[in-house]
Amino acid sequence: MHVLTLTLLAAIQVSVTRVAVVPRPCTVGPQDADGKRDEGRFTWPCDDYSSSVHGKSFGAHVTRKGSPFRGSWHLAEDVWQPGGTEVRAVADGVVRYSAFSPTWTEATGIVHWNLGNVIVIEHTLDPPEKVGETELAAVCSFYVHLAADRRVQVGDRVARGQVIGRIGVDKSDENGRYPAHLHFGLHRGPYVQVPPSLVRELSAAARSTTGLRFGDQVLRGELDFRMSGETSVLITAKESGESMLFSLLVGSTAPKDPPPDIMAWCEGYGPQETLAEWLAPSKFLRARVGSRRR
Ligand SMILES: [Zn+2]
Repeated sequence: MHVLTLTLLAAIQVSVTRVAVVPRPCTVGPQDADGKRDEGRFTWPCDDYSSSVHGKSFGAHVTRKGSPFRGSWHLAEDVWQPGGTEVRAVADGVVRYSAFSPTWTEATGIVHWNLGNVIVIEHTLDPPEKVGETELAAVCSFYVHLAADRRVQVGDRVARGQVIGRIGVDKSDENGRYPAHLHFGLHRGPYVQVPPSLVRELSAAARSTTGLRFGDQVLRGELDFRMSGETSVLITAKESGESMLFSLLVGSTAPKDPPPDIMAWCEGYGPQETLAEWLAPSKFLRARVGSRRR
């Protein structure tokens, strides 16, 4: 997956007036009363996961000259399995996104490749888990380059191990014309949040000579970010007091109609600190999956 830095800004423009209903999350407990959850809270998104991720996948930095993704960080793992391979929810959770992400072209002519069919699931951790220095109350799992027959819709509650879709056919429209594989990522925190990468990126734009620009409005200088309601963030320029309201549910690769609701922080670009917002999937899952699955 890959998204150009400026895509974030371009894409968020469409999000200003969009409203979405967010279902309450269901929790991922350590064990159910019936004792069936003794394998752990998590499972792998597909069979033979570990052996299908080759080399450094998570956190790889694209440096190849001429690559359209040069400078990006790969925030997920690529799982090299054939089209049609079943993909499963890694834990109990609520589906936050299930849609096709189309290709679009900026006014400057830059083409943004689509991601094919994408699903995002939010998993609430109860009790929270300590991961490194942070206490995590939720994580979101991302399943990208899927086939068109997604089996879940936004708001659906899913169980760990439930089949949610399949890997898309090799280089087909449904998977974004990529070689057949699953791009699987785990983002720290809930689906709706003000991610540090978003704050960094918008702040940098506001401090630049052009300012943070949306239509006729421009914010300059230092910014203040505050949640407004459950799904929006109010961004205010400290000096002028001018402000803009953004939905945190939109801001994807495609500012077209209908815009997909991938969160703004589904980004591959930005400074290296962006990586810290994500979990290395193999490392995280290996410590939390029971011994019966690989
Ligand atoms: Zn990938």
